[in-house]
Amino acid sequence: MSTPAPAPVFEPALWYSVVARDDNEACANNGQEFTVNPCYSNGGIVVIECGLCGQHMTLVSAALLDPQPEFS
Ligand SMILES: [Zn+2]
Repeated sequence: MSTPAPAPVFEPALWYSVVARDDNEACANNGQEFTVNPCYSNGGIVVIECGLCGQHMTLVSAALLDPQPEFS
């Protein structure tokens, strides 16, 4: 493997499609990737917790949604 891809960078207050991976070896989700769409970037820091173990997942990639979803 070459150098790992850098963690995604988020602009604040936008919606993304985010892929996150559970790296907790003790968790049944270990190694699995999950897509969160839409995922709000809040202040530019995105944290996705595993629904099973509650640990923060590793963010694999993120794509800015275009167009941005609208919620009324
Ligand atoms: Zn987990």
